[in-house]
Amino acid sequence: MDLNCPKCNSENTQSLATAYEAGMSHTSSSTKGVGIGLGAGGVAVGVGGASTAGVAQTLTSQRASPPQKKAYFKPLMGILVVGLIIMVIGGMIWQPLALLGQFFWIVGSGIYAYRAYQFNSTTWPGLFEDWKHTFICHRCSHAFRIQ
Ligand SMILES: [Zn+2]
Repeated sequence: MDLNCPKCNSENTQSLATAYEAGMSHTSSSTKGVGIGLGAGGVAVGVGGASTAGVAQTLTSQRASPPQKKAYFKPLMGILVVGLIIMVIGGMIWQPLALLGQFFWIVGSGIYAYRAYQFNSTTWPGLFEDWKHTFICHRCSHAFRIQ
């Protein structure tokens, strides 16, 4: 398998998965450094340098982060809360509005759950497959997919 960069032919390439994990560990260690730096206020310049490196690592890691599946719990809770607020207000001022809140909750939840399910079962596997097979070049930062 040829893992050289197709653009600049560099051998300094890395899979997104590896880059992501490396970025995560670097980020956590630099966060600790910043915490110590904040305690000793005198070394502001040193702290600045350390946090800049931490941000750079975070960006690499963010760029390499795997595709996310659509979540169910939080969005559905959000729809429920909005529906409940409309229902409560409707119950106080105008009954049809309460029915509208109920309608919003049931239909909104159904549509969201269906679309999230569709995404997770049809779109996401392809994105994840792409992610697993994508390498980045550390010389020219070109991203390419291998077989
Ligand atoms: Zn390259």
